[in-house]
Amino acid sequence: MNRRELIDQLRSMRQDSAIHAKEHNADPIWQKDVDAIDEVLDILEDYDKQAEQIRMLTKRHATPIHALKKGDGVYVCPACNHYVTLRSNYCQRCGQMLRKPERRAAVERDLGLLWTGRKQQK
Ligand SMILES: [Zn+2]
Repeated sequence: MNRRELIDQLRSMRQDSAIHAKEHNADPIWQKDVDAIDEVLDILEDYDKQAEQIRMLTKRHATPIHALKKGDGVYVCPACNHYVTLRSNYCQRCGQMLRKPERRAAVERDLGLLWTGRKQQK
């Protein structure tokens, strides 16, 4: 049973349970079934939203884009417009991976400013 069929089945079970719950002298188990199925459907919906957020954040964290120059030595994240430094590999606000222009990276490398991803030993 795939996900779509599973959700359809749960909705069908909910519908049947709701009909039984409305019967005269209905066993309270039917309403409990309705409530439980509603909870499961909510959990599945939340899961989908979180999965989409994770997909978006993963893409943002793994796909570098150039920081935007706003002025002399002033750069911002193109995703959220937060200030970033030349050495930033990621935006501190939104996690966007940042790509450095080759020329700027070469200058930084010459000046010994290029961030290697490792902390310098003292
Ligand atoms: Zn950002």
